[in-house]
Amino acid sequence: MSSSADCVFCRIVAGEIPATILHRDEHAIAIADLNAQAPTHLLVMPVEHFANVNDFVAVASPEAVAALWRTAARLGREHGDEGFRLVVNTGPHGGQTVDHLHVHVLAGRHMQWPPG
Ligand code: AMP
Ligand code: ZN
Repeated sequence: MSSSADCVFCRIVAGEIPATILHRDEHAIAIADLNAQAPTHLLVMPVEHFANVNDFVAVASPEAVAALWRTAARLGREHGDEGFRLVVNTGPHGGQTVDHLHVHVLAGRHMQWPPG
C-alpha cells in the first residue's frame, strides 16, 4: 500500500495526526474538515495515497473507486436531508491544496452556483 511520509492525509490515515473520523474501511476514510465551509463539511479519501483524481482512476482498484464514491454519497445522504454537494478540487486551477485525493462532502445549507 502506498503512502507518503510528508502527506498530511497519509499521516491522518496512519494515526499520526488527530482527526475526527466518521468512517473507515479497508479502502476509504472520512474525516471532518478542519476549516468547515458548511454546517457539514467532510472529506472522504482513499486509505492509499493518490495525488489526485487522475492518478486514482488510472491506478486504483475498482473496489477502491467504488468505496470512495459510495462512502461520499452515503455521508451526503445522511447529512443532507435537502441535498448535498460533492467536490473534487484538482490542480492549481481547481484549487487543490492537499495532494492526496479527497472528496469534499458539503451539506446543511443552500449552496451557491457558480463556485468562485
Ligand atoms: P483542497 O483545497 O480541495 O485540497 O482541500 C483540502 C482541505 O483539507 C481543506 O478544506 C482544509 O481545510 C482541509 N484540511 C487540511 N488539513 C487538514 C487536517 N489536518 N484535518 C482536516 N482537514 C484538513
Ligand atoms: Zn497521502
